[in-house]
Amino acid sequence: MSHVWEKANDVQQFSGRHIGPSDSDVQAMLQELGYASLDELTRTALPKAIQDTALLDLPAALQEHEALAELKRIMSQNKLNRSYIGLGYYDTVTPSVVLRNIIENPAWYTQYTPYQAEIAQGRMEALINFQTMVSDLTGLPFSNASLLDEGTAAAEAMSMSRDLAAEGLGDVYYIAQNCLPQTIEVVRTRALALGLKVSVVDPQKVNFGSEAFGLLLQYPAADGRVEDYRNLIAQAKNKGLIVTLATDLLALCVLAAPGELGADIAVGSSQRFGVPLGYGGPHAGFFATKDEFKRRMPGRIIGVSKDANGQNGFRLSLQTREQHIRRDKATSNICTAQVLLAIMASMYAVYHGPKGLKRIAERTHALTRVLGTGLKKLGYALKSENYFDTLAVKLDQAQADGLMRAALAKNVNLGRLDDSVLIALDEKADAQQVSELLSIFAEGKPVPVLKDLAAAAGEAIPAALVRTSAYLQHPIFNSYQSESEMMRYIRKLESRDLSLTRSMIPLGSCTMKLNAASELLPITWPEVNGLHPFVPVDQAKGYKQLFEQLENYLAVCTGFDAISLQPNSGAQGEYAGLLVINKFHESQGQGHRKVCLIPSSAHGTNPASAVMAGMQVIVVKCDNDGNIDLADLKTKAVEHKNDLAALMITYPSTHGVFEEEIVQICNIIHENGGQVYMDGANLNAQIGLCRPGKYGPDVCHLNLHKTFCIPHGGGGPGVGPIGVKKHLAPFLPNHPLVKMGGDKGVGPIAAAPWGSASILPISWMYIRMMGPDGLKKATQVAILNANYMAKRLDSSFPVVYRAKNGLVAHECIVDLKEVKKTADVSVDDIAKRLIDYGYHAPTVSWPVPNTMMIEPTESESKAELDRFCETMISIRNEIREVEQGKAPKDNNVLKHAPHTAAVLTGGWDRPYSREQAAFPKAWVKENKFWPYVGRVDNAYGDRNLVCTCPDISSYS
Ligand SMILES: *Cc1c(COP(=O)(O)O)cnc(C)c1O
Repeated sequence: MSHVWEKANDVQQFSGRHIGPSDSDVQAMLQELGYASLDELTRTALPKAIQDTALLDLPAALQEHEALAELKRIMSQNKLNRSYIGLGYYDTVTPSVVLRNIIENPAWYTQYTPYQAEIAQGRMEALINFQTMVSDLTGLPFSNASLLDEGTAAAEAMSMSRDLAAEGLGDVYYIAQNCLPQTIEVVRTRALALGLKVSVVDPQKVNFGSEAFGLLLQYPAADGRVEDYRNLIAQAKNKGLIVTLATDLLALCVLAAPGELGADIAVGSSQRFGVPLGYGGPHAGFFATKDEFKRRMPGRIIGVSKDANGQNGFRLSLQTREQHIRRDKATSNICTAQVLLAIMASMYAVYHGPKGLKRIAERTHALTRVLGTGLKKLGYALKSENYFDTLAVKLDQAQADGLMRAALAKNVNLGRLDDSVLIALDEKADAQQVSELLSIFAEGKPVPVLKDLAAAAGEAIPAALVRTSAYLQHPIFNSYQSESEMMRYIRKLESRDLSLTRSMIPLGSCTMKLNAASELLPITWPEVNGLHPFVPVDQAKGYKQLFEQLENYLAVCTGFDAISLQPNSGAQGEYAGLLVINKFHESQGQGHRKVCLIPSSAHGTNPASAVMAGMQVIVVKCDNDGNIDLADLKTKAVEHKNDLAALMITYPSTHGVFEEEIVQICNIIHENGGQVYMDGANLNAQIGLCRPGKYGPDVCHLNLHKTFCIPHGGGGPGVGPIGVKKHLAPFLPNHPLVKMGGDKGVGPIAAAPWGSASILPISWMYIRMMGPDGLKKATQVAILNANYMAKRLDSSFPVVYRAKNGLVAHECIVDLKEVKKTADVSVDDIAKRLIDYGYHAPTVSWPVPNTMMIEPTESESKAELDRFCETMISIRNEIREVEQGKAPKDNNVLKHAPHTAAVLTGGWDRPYSREQAAFPKAWVKENKFWPYVGRVDNAYGDRNLVCTCPDISSYS
């Protein structure tokens, strides 16, 4: 009997799919390392003082279909009303060809940030299309790709304005009162931290003196008003202010461009270009500016350069402005941005082309004019006669409440701003909906006939603001309007990129683990991605439950007392966590504490975020083993004990080692009045084994796009929630429009209350499908895989850092300095040669120059680890040929890597064979990745900055 019962309960656990090595592989690898069990391995690897013995208090694992059903049940509690709320978020139609071939396609969503240019030409073409689109529509020549949302883009504009404004101006930033309310507050949070002042003004009444350095206007404004800002902008600029227009890409298809009005900077969100509402995100923010400011622009910029064969090749430009290099002097802390969403928005523009976009804009505008005419006919007063897609109806309180209620009764959400009710139309609006809206406002009176209204409708865009300049004239935006062509264009770009669908991406610190299909399925459910972020909260009961459960799971995993899901990247988590620390110190009468200790090995976002939080960075040394120099830490903590705000520490360290002294380190900081911020990017080495909330840190961010399975999307989206101890909970980020967060919160750090809400189901699914034992085993296998690779590679490329017990954590750094001396082979040569073998290079030269940091994650099978190790060993043998003089130092298979098909089929006078170049191992033939370009010249691209689609004639 019991035998039957066992069989009846014998299900396939998801953890067995998520974790790469089989049980017998695990045993073989343990044996190789000399350990009897996973428990014995990880008991040895982690310091005794921090280890947990109990399993995490999480619900038992569900099977994939069970978890999907459970999530469906939860999210079905969301109510999908028709929303006309506007305020920066609009419903949109995601073209099915983009939905199916990009957002549902792991070849696009599992890509990494395009640091290795030669395997990232597809997504960089899509991103340069994004930049071209933004640049054309805003009328400003330089655009980035991309920022986290509209609010943070405006905050970046404020920071940049401060740096660029004329000398002698004061520290006030003017924001027009009809900017989006959440934008005003996100900018205010940022300003406060930097010691700047925000003044919310009626721009028509401002006298530009010398007190302000910049001005932010919204065009069209939050209440829909379209105003000619030319004079205002000229006046402000006359006084040396930098002027930013927050704007809307669809409106710009029919409105004069910000650049044409004289703006210095344009920012906004590209959401309504085919990216679902998603209860607030993720969406790509944009930022465009003038030629003279381009080198100060925050965020990632794709540029055009040349490859080794003279062909055009895309690459990341101007990286020297970024945190990885400039650290506390960087232009911003932007690391993970919203690449996948920028790609979606760009594809929407490629698919529709300028004519299609104009049609959507004109149609939306025409429907709005019909509606506006109807409302007036019904006796309502509009706040402005000039608008694009949003009407503000002036009403008294009682009238407004009544109409909102009447609308709700018909499952319609209207917007509310100050003394008016907002109606914002979008791409999905139609005549029937306009009729329905009019019937709500008619309150029982006859509804006017739409055709009559259309005939009577006057102009709603002043003649001076009608767009006359062309946009999106490049062939890219005029060639793919049939679905076949579009599908093939997307597929063509996809084939130029290497993603997890092809081979492991062993990026140290980035945890490129499996993004399981079941985890990703829910993000395109309408009950997940169809909600406007500002709907009444009782329409988002499903989300509420999802947040509560996920916050609880993350609190259990990390040992913290409260979680904020608002930060939409790890770096935003850092910024949020440091603001929370600031506010805590203020609450203790210790607001002067502003010194932030950061080890020299820290990720570049740490110092950049500390500066954004208004802190002063003091660097702590590391010793020869890569550990924090305890003596230096103590000296500096004591020296600054009166002003010490925080220590930022990564654990296990960025050198891939569990430092024994972590508890002692936290004690030193606490004894000197500081708080401990833990950078949780390496949490994949800890879940189920130890909990940062229990061994010292006060606050920690988690990268859900690393440890908790949200895909990297080629450089975003991401979610960087923070966990805090009880004493910090009251200060967690809150929001001006939705009640959430701490009751003494630091203000919003992102535009949407729960940041990138619609991708949180991915992490929820992961935790529910793994269960407490699955999560623990994943961590153990991540550590096993890293140690197995460290052992296999050590004789070819020595492992740089290990703990005293001889083990690494979940990643390892291998030394490539030696081969530079013996064979003049650089880290770059090896990174590019890996492409010929079909691999993405590990993290290159960070945190230690001339090394590679390898993080296999638990998801990679032993067979894949072996294949990668054999590749590295094979490359070592190729280097040996150079060392032994069998291959010339300046003309060998490494120096010329990667090899394109064009090079291999052209004239050949190299001292190695074509076979050796393209198929160095038999198995490469079976699954060959052909790089589309040869090695891209980085310096050339920075000297000759081109950041929009290159002329067709420049393609060779
Ligand atoms: C990835 C990472 C970050 C930044 O996270 P983003 O989500 O890219 O902003 C910070 N610190 C470390 C150690 C990281 O690996």
